[in-house]
Amino acid sequence: MSFDLAARLAARRAENLYRQRPLLESPQGPEVVVDGQPLLAFCNNDYLGLANHPQVIEAWRAGAERWGVGGGASHLVIGHSGPHHALEEALADLTGRPRALLFTTGYMANLGAVTALVGQGDTVLEDRLNHASLLDAGLLSGARFSRYLHNDAESLAKRLEKATGNTLVVTDGVFSMDGDIADLPALARKVKAKGAWLMVDDAHGFGSLGREGGGIVEHFGLGQDDVPVLVGTLGKAFGTAGAFVAGSDDLIESLIQFARPYIYTTSQPPALACATLKSLELLRIEHWRREHLQTLIRQFRQGAEQIGLELMDSFTPIQPIMVGDAGRAVWWSQMLRARGLMVTAIRPPTVPAGSARLRVTLTAAHSEAQVRRLLEGLADCFAQLSSESAHA
Ligand SMILES: *Cc1c(COP(=O)(O)O)cnc(C)c1O
Repeated sequence: MSFDLAARLAARRAENLYRQRPLLESPQGPEVVVDGQPLLAFCNNDYLGLANHPQVIEAWRAGAERWGVGGGASHLVIGHSGPHHALEEALADLTGRPRALLFTTGYMANLGAVTALVGQGDTVLEDRLNHASLLDAGLLSGARFSRYLHNDAESLAKRLEKATGNTLVVTDGVFSMDGDIADLPALARKVKAKGAWLMVDDAHGFGSLGREGGGIVEHFGLGQDDVPVLVGTLGKAFGTAGAFVAGSDDLIESLIQFARPYIYTTSQPPALACATLKSLELLRIEHWRREHLQTLIRQFRQGAEQIGLELMDSFTPIQPIMVGDAGRAVWWSQMLRARGLMVTAIRPPTVPAGSARLRVTLTAAHSEAQVRRLLEGLADCFAQLSSESAHA
């Protein structure tokens, strides 16, 4: 027996599924340098344009001078410092929940919350299109694991009928590859009727949805009764890094006791928490960022529909263009890149087979002129594709 890695890699390449890492040679933003080439990019998750904001950078710098650069220990030993604690209080306030708990990444927050809440003899029900970290968390928990049809409260209700033990229903708030949002009021009604708990991972909704950037629960006006377990990540609209779970005092204390990905890891650098405190302040008060983003989303959708592109049902900054075939998605991405535009091709297994797409993301840092440039590039490629298939 040996590991035939070369054959495995060759097979992946043959299926047009081979992944490569573009090398970013500039700060994050609309105008970047990638692999030596200046590009106008529409693929980061920095929805509010805070990842390179001077005030956030200054907060990080001042935080490092005051607190040093490393967390130094796990939270339960001696790594839980003042800025971590202040950030947890500010996040509880943003979410309207009694408490919030800081995690190092969203992936770990999801693993930690699900595995602390359910185990053998319990049930975890997830939307089919949930983020990989939520699916992994469900599998790792050891609970009975089943997936319901995408955003389908009836399909969920059928599975709830058969659920045993403590039952956790888990969904993305904004679906990361489709841009649509969970029908939380309908899901919450079914979940509450069965005495189960709803957990929402709103990685893409915080900052971009809700009047103050409170995400999907603010958008729908849902409280802790409806969504007892609320997860947010800090690497997207917040522009920094890390994640949090918000909820009741008992929930947070339980995570501190039982969430292994919380307990057995070094706390994030305190200076990072200082930076996030500043970006959280900007995220809440600078409404113009969300308003400008909505203007760009409308502009993009109108323009793309005029070209004849297939969009998805989304009013969020995630605006995928459905292409279908993985090879064709790569072709689009390369053609755009030749025109100075960077848009990522998303292929299986990240999305179901046959639903490869270009994942366009818009941010408050983009201008209307930049969105126009994207639309011109897309129109060009579309025309070329149509003329090629006419000759084929
Ligand atoms: C990005 C993302 C995560 C992971 O968050 P990280 O902080 O990047 O680890 C989790 N859930 C969803 C829905 C995401 O989009």
